[in-house]
Amino acid sequence: MPDLYVDGSWVSALAGGRRTIVCPADGQVVAEIDEAGPDDTAAAIAAAHRAFHEGPWPGTSARERGDLLLRTADLLERDTDTIADAESRDTGKRFVESQYDVADVVSVFRHYGRIAAEDSGRMVDTGNPDVVSRIVHEPLGVCGLIAPWNYPLLQASWKVAPCLAAGNTFVLKPSELTPHTSIHLLRVLEEAGLPAGVGNLVLGAGAEAGALLAEDPRVDLVSFTGGLVTGRRVMAAAAATVKKVALELGGKNPNIVFADADLEVALDYALTAVFLHSGQVCSAGARLLVQEEIHDEFVDRLVERARAIRLGGPRDEKAESGPLISAAHREKVAAYVAAGLAEGATLRCGGSAPDDPELDDGFYYLPTILDECTSTMSVTQEESFGPVLTVETFASEDDAVRVANDSIYGLAGAVWTQDAGKAQRVAARLRMGTVWINDYHPYVPQAEWGGYKQSGIGRELGQAGLEEYRETKHVWHNIRPAEQRWFSG
Ligand code: NAD
Repeated sequence: MPDLYVDGSWVSALAGGRRTIVCPADGQVVAEIDEAGPDDTAAAIAAAHRAFHEGPWPGTSARERGDLLLRTADLLERDTDTIADAESRDTGKRFVESQYDVADVVSVFRHYGRIAAEDSGRMVDTGNPDVVSRIVHEPLGVCGLIAPWNYPLLQASWKVAPCLAAGNTFVLKPSELTPHTSIHLLRVLEEAGLPAGVGNLVLGAGAEAGALLAEDPRVDLVSFTGGLVTGRRVMAAAAATVKKVALELGGKNPNIVFADADLEVALDYALTAVFLHSGQVCSAGARLLVQEEIHDEFVDRLVERARAIRLGGPRDEKAESGPLISAAHREKVAAYVAAGLAEGATLRCGGSAPDDPELDDGFYYLPTILDECTSTMSVTQEESFGPVLTVETFASEDDAVRVANDSIYGLAGAVWTQDAGKAQRVAARLRMGTVWINDYHPYVPQAEWGGYKQSGIGRELGQAGLEEYRETKHVWHNIRPAEQRWFSG
């Protein structure tokens, strides 16, 4: 069966392009799939444009659209294990983690299914009895949705669900490395009754299949999640047609541990903060800032536990973390570690691929801790997006805030202390879109997600996530029109 979904049909790439998808855990071929080029994306945009401007979708009631999202959530939940299996093959991540991801996807669709019909507008009191004035929300139009490979279906769902709730049409382009769960999503949307042309799927490389979504004048919004460099490119391309732009970019997130924290818990969470999914998480706590007086003991124990982390493939029940997404990405991570060492960091553990013949065919990299880092190093400033923890120390509360904020990014961060006042003071001063206190990583679809500074523009999830996909119109109705006679002539 062909893999691209355009105007309600499953079709092959117009130029006949194909791509081989490989499982990062063992290098085995997962599948050959259709690879779109610009002509396929143009056809998908044309279909989405037609469906928006000529079809009934934008005029359906918000309640109807909400019901479709709730049906979609049920179907995704029904297919949990099939989807989780596909996600694990594409990404190499543990099957149980993929199951958690599908549960998150279901809750995102339920969230937008429930709130689709909320806040349908409001009346404005103009003080003039001859005027009816109201504020209404309307869909934007055609949305280009571009997603990354680390949480393929989850990141796509953060866009697709609010986009449909608001009454838009879309062209989704997932990462070329992880297409399968997006294919499944479009099948489920079709089954749930999404009209032809409202949702379209193109698969393929960014420059060939994705770029047009930022350039084409028929696209009204481009919502992008991915790396900073690509994000800048998308924003620049979108400027030519003044598209609405939503960007969820990278992070280099500080995890701040004060000496008065519950150190057992802080230590345990410091590991998950950075090593979950081998560090391929935008909010990974990859920068540990630890107060000077506890540095030695805290880092010694962290190193001991990091060394014990077991790597393995999706179905290895003893595995605690998986591979990196590709050989090229592993090289990038290794280059950051080498740069850190050249700049004066000390390698405490990891720093190479594992020496285990069973893992030789996958793209694994050992959990790595670099000590004695400073905020001027590239490895503390740039996103390696791998299992690499840098350790810096701080002396005081002011110092912790200064070092943590010394970043072009502002996605997320955490503060660990049992002093509630200090926790609140530090949280208030961190220039980040999410701050956890005595916790790391949790999110809920009811709360907004997004970055300060160069971590992004706009918000996903929550109510604000829906606002990103709406225009807001003021309708002024003079119900007793009469001549004004401003000019006497
Ligand atoms: P990437 O920037 O390489 O690619 C992201 C997507 O953009 C892919 O679908 C890719 O094909 C596409 N693309 C590439 N060039 C393009 C172009 N010129 N025009 C249009 N599309 C193009 O990112 P990645 O490596 O897939 O993902 C990892 C990055 O994503 C990390 O930086 C991570 O922090 C970020 N991320 C951020 C969040 C967040 O919520 N802020 C969430 C997940 C991932």
